[in-house]
Amino acid sequence: MTEAERRARHLRLVEADHRHLWHPFTQMEEWLAEEPLVVDAADGVHLFDTLGRRYLDGVSSLWCNVHGHRVPEIDAAVKDQLTRVAHTTLLGLASTASIECAEELLRWTPKGLTRVFFSDAGATAVEIALKMAFQHHQLRGDTARSEFIALRGAYHGDTIGSVSLGGMELFHRIFKPLLFDVHHAPQPYCYRCPLSKRWPECGIACADEVERIFERRQGKIAALVMEPVVQGADGMITQPPGYVRRMREICDRHGALLVCDEVATGFGRTGKMFAVEHDGVVPDLMTVAKGISGGYLPLAATITTERIFESFLGPFEARRTFFHGHTYTGNPLACAASVASMRLFRDKGLVEALPGKGAALARALAPAAGMSHVGEVRQRGLMVGIELVRDRATREEYAYGLRAGHRVIQEARAMGAILRPLGNVVVLMPPLAMTEAQLAELAGIALACIEKVTATL
Ligand code: PLP
Repeated sequence: MTEAERRARHLRLVEADHRHLWHPFTQMEEWLAEEPLVVDAADGVHLFDTLGRRYLDGVSSLWCNVHGHRVPEIDAAVKDQLTRVAHTTLLGLASTASIECAEELLRWTPKGLTRVFFSDAGATAVEIALKMAFQHHQLRGDTARSEFIALRGAYHGDTIGSVSLGGMELFHRIFKPLLFDVHHAPQPYCYRCPLSKRWPECGIACADEVERIFERRQGKIAALVMEPVVQGADGMITQPPGYVRRMREICDRHGALLVCDEVATGFGRTGKMFAVEHDGVVPDLMTVAKGISGGYLPLAATITTERIFESFLGPFEARRTFFHGHTYTGNPLACAASVASMRLFRDKGLVEALPGKGAALARALAPAAGMSHVGEVRQRGLMVGIELVRDRATREEYAYGLRAGHRVIQEARAMGAILRPLGNVVVLMPPLAMTEAQLAELAGIALACIEKVTATL
């Protein structure tokens, strides 16, 4: 293709995008006024646009890519599955790929989790966990347990149940009349502590607030739902060590279920295969998506214990069935990609390599400590949030309309990295496959862009 042909193709695609597409979480008026970056291809941890420019995939294509793109082993597994069947249902039928995927998944998940219910997105996995938790109590005769607790700043997806759990004002407020009531507990956000305390002297006082809700609603809480270790979408809010364990203990004391949403944190992101492992916690229900298929295809799972599964058993006419399912539940292509991805974790010793990679990323980000508009760098493994502030001493935030994070990521594109901000937080969430040198390059670009942009604000 000549340069002119390439440009013409690019412009035709941009024009068609502008005419036909509606992008998620995007102010379309602004989108239509700009020329978008159109991803055309990828190789390893790099993406290529329609103009042939190369970028580091600094947020793993929205937090899901694990081993890089066009991984020979996953490509081969999907192609091989295509020679057998692309899709078949789990409603009334079993399938080879979904059985193998569930088996492999349970080799990695915390001991005690034994049952896999497949779906196709993080939000659906959470929706399923909510309904399972609710129905479990109903079936056991504990019918008053119909309420849920979540954390402020929580993000569990965009379906109505998941949004009900959500605690992000910006995303969730408008839908309030459509949502069911959820008790929201103070967020463990140490940099901006909602209780104006300091960790560790506080003894994780915000956990006591969670317990107080349980005390006020004795016997009424079905489950506490939380993102363990890092609340991703609210700005990579990292929890103090021991927080998840405290939540487990509180749920146990009050006879409620603990639902850990590992959609973002699962599959190695925080330095362990699953974030709950940091605190040695086994949840009653765990939701996974994103990295489950290596970032290849839509797949999600709600994983639970034999105890919960058994609540639903009974004769057909007793109607204890879990009446829930999606057309693409356990899609064989996605399951095949997932099995190949999980085998790569083992074959490449990926989990073992994570501490080294996390340390390399931390070293590369160390200069941020001296930057006048970086309030805090929060990191767990390969999940990083760099919080930009107008004033480091007072922690004053940049005004929403200034779009500080957005300006940084626009600048990063010019330097060859794709990033996506969360408000004033610049997020780095690289594929686990990035080498230490690539991690250093990514961090270097992010810090250089922060320096440049904040100097002008
Ligand atoms: N749960 C968590 C913790 C997430 O971070 C996300 C997405 O970012 C979701 C659920 C929703 O996942 P999906 O976009 O696949 O519906």
